[in-house]
Amino acid sequence: MLRALAAEYGHAVARDGIRAELAELRRALGAGTQASLDPDDIAGRVAARIEALMRPSLRPVLNLTGTVLHTNLGRAPMPDVAIEAVARAAAGNVNLEFDLGTGRRGDRDSHLEPWLRRLTGAEAATVVNNNAAAVLLVLNSLALRRRVAVSRGELIEIGGAFRMPDIMARAGCRLVEVGTTNRTHAEDYAAAIGDGLALVMKVHTSNYVVQGFTASVPEAELAALAHDAGLPFVVDLGSGTLVDLARFGLPHEPTVAETIAAGADLVTFSGDKLLGGPQAGIIVGRADLVDRFKRNPMKRAMRLDKMTIAALAAILPLYANPERLAEVVPTLRLMVRDVDEIRAVAERLGAALARHLGDRASVAIVDCDCEIGSGSLPTKTLASVAVALRPNTGKRGSGKALARLAKAFRELPVPVIGRLQGDALMLDMRCLEDEATFLGQLAELRLEGP
Ligand SMILES: *Cc1c(COP(=O)(O)O)cnc(C)c1O
Repeated sequence: MLRALAAEYGHAVARDGIRAELAELRRALGAGTQASLDPDDIAGRVAARIEALMRPSLRPVLNLTGTVLHTNLGRAPMPDVAIEAVARAAAGNVNLEFDLGTGRRGDRDSHLEPWLRRLTGAEAATVVNNNAAAVLLVLNSLALRRRVAVSRGELIEIGGAFRMPDIMARAGCRLVEVGTTNRTHAEDYAAAIGDGLALVMKVHTSNYVVQGFTASVPEAELAALAHDAGLPFVVDLGSGTLVDLARFGLPHEPTVAETIAAGADLVTFSGDKLLGGPQAGIIVGRADLVDRFKRNPMKRAMRLDKMTIAALAAILPLYANPERLAEVVPTLRLMVRDVDEIRAVAERLGAALARHLGDRASVAIVDCDCEIGSGSLPTKTLASVAVALRPNTGKRGSGKALARLAKAFRELPVPVIGRLQGDALMLDMRCLEDEATFLGQLAELRLEGP
């Protein structure tokens, strides 16, 4: 059996499996615990270890956390047309940087730029690996060893070490803090501009709000101020939606087109937040500035691969018809999903869970709030419905039993990721569209164990 596994998976994997089993046996014998030394048993355990080593570490999971765009769970699920485009691009060669008309070398941005111009009203566009890279590229290209003004109220930290002051430093720029945490006025910017600046920047406060006694300068006014001094005005929109979300009953967010129309020379935004596509950072704006990004060697280190370009090139045309967007873009579909439909899912699955868990846990259907996540619409929650599971604790403490319950769901073939809230494991059903996968693996839920 082991010889066959080594022949299939290779010597190194078989060796690692055998070594791990031997180490465990030594540990068990040293600790005086029972371990079967029957050669067939040992071989079976080694085989199981080898199979486990071969299982991919990156796996599909069911996101029942109640955060639609969960950065740790890979943010946006992509539309079918994008998935098909990625598969086609992955399988073979594509005209990535090849002009089919002239037979000469082409530009990989050419597959996206016309759509980005059409959808945003901007003159030009380029695309890099993520929005953090987009901001870095803009700052490095336009303000190397020079000063950049940002309001103190906008010096954001996004999860995963994206902090505006640190990005500025890495881009080689000097940050000029303007105004105060809660109030920044046009005079504050004017004073900074007098001090010799490379550009004026506005950053979307994606994951917090400054509330109460506050003031900020509207984009059009800030644009005029910058332009009077001959400086570019750059807006990092973060999520950056291409459509007015109000048409879906969501709060209005400034769209990329509105921001360009308000006078921004450049706008940066993410591909995998509200846009609902692959991880990418999109820069749109003035052609002369975008041209400088394309000539910065950093761009070469940040450029997109053919699969991401294929996905974006399939998604952007969907935005040409906002009427159908909520059907075809999963992120939007999940965000606008009707709460009664979510409740029906929770009731169906809650009943199945109650049958399966028996007296090991109580099952309740509860109303809850769901977040959009990833710094999109930070103050907006969506009404949702969850199945709340509470372990019936025996001897064990309730905390341990709850952790064990959450782990059992994570150990399913398609791991189910919920959210711990008080003494309950909450399974928020807003993002569960694939009920069959959820139900089909319930029999494998293992609640026993250490
Ligand atoms: C999310 C966000 C970023 C980082 O974008 P990524 O695509 O995750 O790299 C930068 N700025 C703002 C304002 C954001 O909201």
